[in-house]
Amino acid sequence: MSQPSATRRRVDPRAERAARTVLAGPRPRLLRQPAAAISNERRRDPRAIREAALVQRQPRPRYDWTRDAASAGSSAAMGVFVAAAPAIPLQVIAEPAYLVLALLDRPGGEVSDHDRQVIAAARLLADSGSDGGGGAVVTVSTGSGEALAEAGSDRHVALPDGWADDYVPERRAAAASALMAALSPRHVLFPDSADGGDVARRVAAAAGERLFTGVQSLAPDRATRQSAGGSLETGHRPTRLMTVAADAFAPLDGVRHEARPLDLAAPAIAGEEVLPRLGGARRLAVDPDALSLSETDFILSAGNGVTDWRSFAELGEALGATRAGSRVVCDAGHLPRERQVGASGTVVGARCYLAFGIAGAPQHLQGITGVHHVIAVNTDLHAEMIKRADLSIVADAQAVMPALIRLIRERRHD
Ligand SMILES: Cc1cc2nc3c(=O)[nH]c(=O)nc-3n(C[C@H](O)[C@H](O)[C@H](O)COP(=O)(O)OP(=O)(O)OC[C@H]3O[C@@H](n4cnc5c(N)ncnc54)[C@H](O)[C@@H]3O)c2cc1C
Repeated sequence: MSQPSATRRRVDPRAERAARTVLAGPRPRLLRQPAAAISNERRRDPRAIREAALVQRQPRPRYDWTRDAASAGSSAAMGVFVAAAPAIPLQVIAEPAYLVLALLDRPGGEVSDHDRQVIAAARLLADSGSDGGGGAVVTVSTGSGEALAEAGSDRHVALPDGWADDYVPERRAAAASALMAALSPRHVLFPDSADGGDVARRVAAAAGERLFTGVQSLAPDRATRQSAGGSLETGHRPTRLMTVAADAFAPLDGVRHEARPLDLAAPAIAGEEVLPRLGGARRLAVDPDALSLSETDFILSAGNGVTDWRSFAELGEALGATRAGSRVVCDAGHLPRERQVGASGTVVGARCYLAFGIAGAPQHLQGITGVHHVIAVNTDLHAEMIKRADLSIVADAQAVMPALIRLIRERRHD
């Protein structure tokens, strides 16, 4: 005969019934749970929760749903359990054994994904050098280093703000050469982009050093890149100067470094004596519809909820956005097939995706996983696209499109 398990509690139905009886008599009333089980449970008061989260009453109430979590006393009183996000420890490299420079593009002042990937690659070299790591990553760009601390920067050299919009690669290259002379870094990494690659080649030519371009993997003793259309892999000992291919390194997540400003003598970064040899370089306006969906930054997309195609085209023009759509609208011939976003269309990584009348089927959402900001216009509040969006307008697409066009024209006229 098997022995009863040591952990199994014997149930005494009579004793449990007695514990739950709140009204004895001919018709006893029982609690649904044993009294002991509910004694610590507080009732949730939705009104109190709403009140705690209210940050602005007029003209329209606004709520900050993190506030009821922050007001720990009241949330505890309401029986709401909120797990505090664990603080990310600050990594300090006080006495770096060596330096790895990361010269960033920061187009338009923003830290791009490619910039973050370059910092991640630099971190790899700083944390696991052939002598076991202990290096520090020094980022170099216009703007402050604050935004770079969570990307992995230990020190930051800020280039003059006026350089952000000027295309003067000679000046950046001169600043990079001056920084190399001042800091003697072990490695200098650049994004393998149009601007970053240009500066890197100028720096390599000035230093008379070899540049290893398009790096796709890095280890302390080996850097590789692909060639011959991806059919060959070329390996090399990491050189001092390297450009980092786009999307080869995952940006860091869950780290916090100092990004401490590095004060250097002005000549090290100013490069004033450099006279630009390019005269009047400026960015050209391109037809957004001529760009491929994978390289455009702003997409205006239509789904089956769009019927006013004239307004859709006008809005695309007014916004300067590239037009795209769901499979349903491409199947119906409203847009060419190469404009289809999704699993069986193009996977896009735009900065902004403005979706009119798109339900948000899984196959469509797969195409926009890399989009930074999604704005959805849909009549159905419960549409999946609304759940994915950072900003939603629950309204008829045919009403919102002309209203937006009007607004843009008024603003331009002003
Ligand atoms: C193998 C496979 C691959 C697929 N690949 C893709 C793909 O790559 N890309 C893709 O998009 N789909 C793809 N699909 C199809 C996908 O499953 C959906 O059918 C499609 O995405 C739906 O398109 P939709 O959201 O435009 O249309 P619907 O599903 O018809 O949704 C229309 C939306 O518009 C809203 N709406 C209606 N009227 C209005 C109005 N007046 N104003 C505002 N909103 C309104 C509705 O509330 C609804 O949310 C694929 C399917 C399969 C089986």
